[in-house]
Amino acid sequence: MHGHTPRRRFGQNFLADPHYVRRIIDAVHPQPGEALVEIGPGLGALTAGLIARAGHLNAIEIDRDLAARLRERFDATQLTLFENDALRFDFARLSADLSAPLRIVGNLPYNISSPLLFHLAANPASLRDLHVMLQKEVVARMAAAPSTPDYGRLSVMLQAKFAISRLFIVPPGAFSPAPKVDSAVARLTPLGAQAPQITDETLFAQLVAAAFAQRRKTLRNALAAHCPPEDLRAVEIDPQARGENLAVADFVRLTNHLHP
Ligand code: SAM
Repeated sequence: MHGHTPRRRFGQNFLADPHYVRRIIDAVHPQPGEALVEIGPGLGALTAGLIARAGHLNAIEIDRDLAARLRERFDATQLTLFENDALRFDFARLSADLSAPLRIVGNLPYNISSPLLFHLAANPASLRDLHVMLQKEVVARMAAAPSTPDYGRLSVMLQAKFAISRLFIVPPGAFSPAPKVDSAVARLTPLGAQAPQITDETLFAQLVAAAFAQRRKTLRNALAAHCPPEDLRAVEIDPQARGENLAVADFVRLTNHLHP
């Protein structure tokens, strides 16, 4: 039909159901003049609708064949296309160039979804919001509350920067080729002034990673390389608790205590 053979290594499952295209675009509610950025426009399912509403769109696509097709279909006044790897893309620079915080939209390639979200979370000040479609399980982990099975490193690292809400589920049949699992659309909004102040982002990330590296380990053991149990008690964290029991604020308190 479209003559493009989907490339599995680029996580290509193209949205094909106009109902879900419309729901995603309605959720984004794009307006002319906004700094809209689509990650992985692919065959243009969302691209066309975003351009129709906003007039202009920036997009990042790694697949050269798809980039060539997009250039044929949309002219330069409609689409600024970066033929690039979104994992290496400098979003802060684009935001500075456009003098506006970015509105990110993407039916994200599933194989790189977590590293891409971490990459985006590194510069929340350059973002206005994100609307992303991911595997339903990944969205559940992003939005999970402490002491629930889905709560983990992804939850803490993203919730430290964003308010996260799951908007709706998209079934496999909405895509071509159909993925094996349900997808979900999530909205991430930077916390801005509400964001917890973290004295050392690297240490925060290390503590979170260590706390969840082996879920069954108590914090006393899991964090032994970083601090003795006295430091945990000093910030009212029970050394016998596990990483999954700590709220984002607990990880922040511990980081700021260890690196005032
Ligand atoms: N947005 C289209 C849609 O909804 O039908 C395509 C979605 S498809 C799941 C993912 C898209 O991201 C593909 O077009 C793929 O080539 C592109 N992609 C994969 N890895 C990428 C990367 N690292 N940087 C930029 N684009 C990437």
